[in-house]
Amino acid sequence: MMAKYKKVSFRTFKKEYDVIVIGGGHAGCEAALASSRMGTRALLITSNLDNIAHMSCNPAIGGLGKSHLVREIDALGGKMARNIDRTGIQFRMLNTKKGPAVQAPRAQADRRDYRISMRKVLKKEKNLNLTQGLVEKIIVKGKKAIGIKTQTGIEYKGKAIILATGTFLRGLILMGKVSFPAGRMGEFPADRLSDSLKDIGLKLGRLNTCTPPRIEGKTVNFSKLIKQPGDTPPPPLSFSTKEIETKQIPCYLAFTNDATHRVIKKNLRDSPLITGKARGLPPRYCPSIEEKIARFPEKKRHQIFLEPEGRDTTEYYVNGFFTGFSERVQLEALHTVKGLEKVEITKPGYAIEYDFVPPTQLKPSLETKRVKNLFLVGQINGTSGYEEAAAQGLMAGINAVLKIRGKETFILDRSEAYIGVLIDDLVTKGTREPYRMFTSRAEHRLILRCDNADQRLMKYGHRFGLVSRKDYERCQRKYTQIEKEIKRLRKSLARPTRRVNNLLKKLGTDSIKEDTSLSQILKRPEARYKDLVKIDEDERKISSEVAQGVEIALKYEGYIKRELEQIEKFKRLEEKRIPLDFNYSKLEGLRIESKEKLNSIRPVSIGQASRISGVNPSDISLLLVYLKRWKFE
Ligand SMILES: Cc1cc2nc3c(=O)[nH]c(=O)nc-3n(C[C@H](O)[C@H](O)[C@H](O)COP(=O)(O)OP(=O)(O)OC[C@H]3O[C@@H](n4cnc5c(N)ncnc54)[C@H](O)[C@@H]3O)c2cc1C
Repeated sequence: MMAKYKKVSFRTFKKEYDVIVIGGGHAGCEAALASSRMGTRALLITSNLDNIAHMSCNPAIGGLGKSHLVREIDALGGKMARNIDRTGIQFRMLNTKKGPAVQAPRAQADRRDYRISMRKVLKKEKNLNLTQGLVEKIIVKGKKAIGIKTQTGIEYKGKAIILATGTFLRGLILMGKVSFPAGRMGEFPADRLSDSLKDIGLKLGRLNTCTPPRIEGKTVNFSKLIKQPGDTPPPPLSFSTKEIETKQIPCYLAFTNDATHRVIKKNLRDSPLITGKARGLPPRYCPSIEEKIARFPEKKRHQIFLEPEGRDTTEYYVNGFFTGFSERVQLEALHTVKGLEKVEITKPGYAIEYDFVPPTQLKPSLETKRVKNLFLVGQINGTSGYEEAAAQGLMAGINAVLKIRGKETFILDRSEAYIGVLIDDLVTKGTREPYRMFTSRAEHRLILRCDNADQRLMKYGHRFGLVSRKDYERCQRKYTQIEKEIKRLRKSLARPTRRVNNLLKKLGTDSIKEDTSLSQILKRPEARYKDLVKIDEDERKISSEVAQGVEIALKYEGYIKRELEQIEKFKRLEEKRIPLDFNYSKLEGLRIESKEKLNSIRPVSIGQASRISGVNPSDISLLLVYLKRWKFE
């Protein structure tokens, strides 16, 4: 007798939620946490529950530009920074010889622990349900998203839907001449969802990226490599972490050489990234090893970092060896590297191409312009990187809740946060290649530092209930102490005694001839706060983070003041709001190209309009005149 299966009714919603998040990557985790912690009932549905918060590529969080995002996520109440502080295996502060605007902590993660730890955090949330399923359709009624449907026909109803599907939309893996559909190695792609997005009127594009091989540490001759230890003490990423006590593990540095380059050159036609078989643009800033050799033939060697995958594994990630080559060529090339002569690959590197949704189709809240209550976050918006994804997830999680509560959207502008820069770049300019954050993308770098993200943003996190009162009060105390100490240093005088001048000489700075305030001395490039102790008669015990805050505020006082004045000007343009239904087609005198651009982007402010490429200052002047008139009509 044939077994009887229960027929699934396609119009029956299994359950109703306030917010449904599709995809358990870095964007999805922060989105689900923010919306459930704000008190709404949320569902996180993902194609493989065991791979929540999986790091598809490098096992590391932070680094240049990216750590600014991580600190901001932390200040707003996101969980990425705390999670890496719990599960990191090596921590370093980058750019310590440069100014405070570009100093950046970076941490190597234990890839497996990071995943498990984040899943625990999600599981603990009482308003959040986790379920496994491959979503194939966004259900839309009257231009509003109202639910989702899975591959097995189950439907869930949601007041807001957040899509965070990463590289999975029509994902196609390429290795040498071989290609096969996959969301990432070993996981199903999401093919039908792309069609559903097209059906609801969204335009899709194609991008590609690649990842290096993982190798067996037991087959590496470490004695031939350069050891790279972490910092002591390890710098944490979260404002709430006092100290990292876990043992740190070293990374190792190796180099390619002539022989490696010969193997690569001989096999260039093997790589889909060179032959053009991989469709869409790759990330220019993170080229594959074959692209590096082809583009910079004069370079004699390239760095390769062996980064441990975790504490309980002997696997290493071969950073710097991103590739689309076949496994055979990967192995042949690796065997030419000193120390890797006998290396075995545990997981080959590969390239992947995937659909993305060009992000100019989004509002600054990350809601789609076409379908209400549908938010898009992470790699689906053309970004690359865990931090970029998490930042968008957090913002969309907050905005989805505000939307269903009928409250005003939460937008960070370019003068407040790197998150503001990221989202503004995406929705205003769009992107043609995978977008990643760099400090050079921000206009107000001296204000948007890693160390002061709490001062800039914690008030918002606290207001939304994502930052505890205790953490917020600690942050306020820190900045009160900084202010107090600056005032004290302005008033405290150093006398031009022999002892003081000897000390100044030792620091390599000029002696003083008259009473000079300690703040003036600290402003000198050679002087550090810790040096003042020896001439400060009324020395205070302050923490290292307060000392850092005092030093930066005094040393960069002039620059900070100038940047704040520029921000004032910037804010005036941002505050000139443009209604979303403003009809640009009717504006006489506006060039056709500008009309088209403005009609398609629909900027929310004159500031945003002025950043659209192709919209020039004369268009903006005209727009200002019309807006004034329109207001009074
Ligand atoms: C091969 C490769 C190389 C990369 N190289 C780099 C790099 O060099 N530098 C860098 O910064 N970043 C790199 N990345 C990107 C980095 O992994 C992503 O930017 C980041 O993980 C994106 O986060 P996300 O949350 O948007 O998506 P992901 O982390 O990809 O998570 C997507 C989630 O959605 C789930 N999902 C997808 N479709 C569905 C569906 N239909 N239904 C239910 N669940 C679904 C998946 O299971 C997954 O959990 C690379 C990624 C890959 C795959």
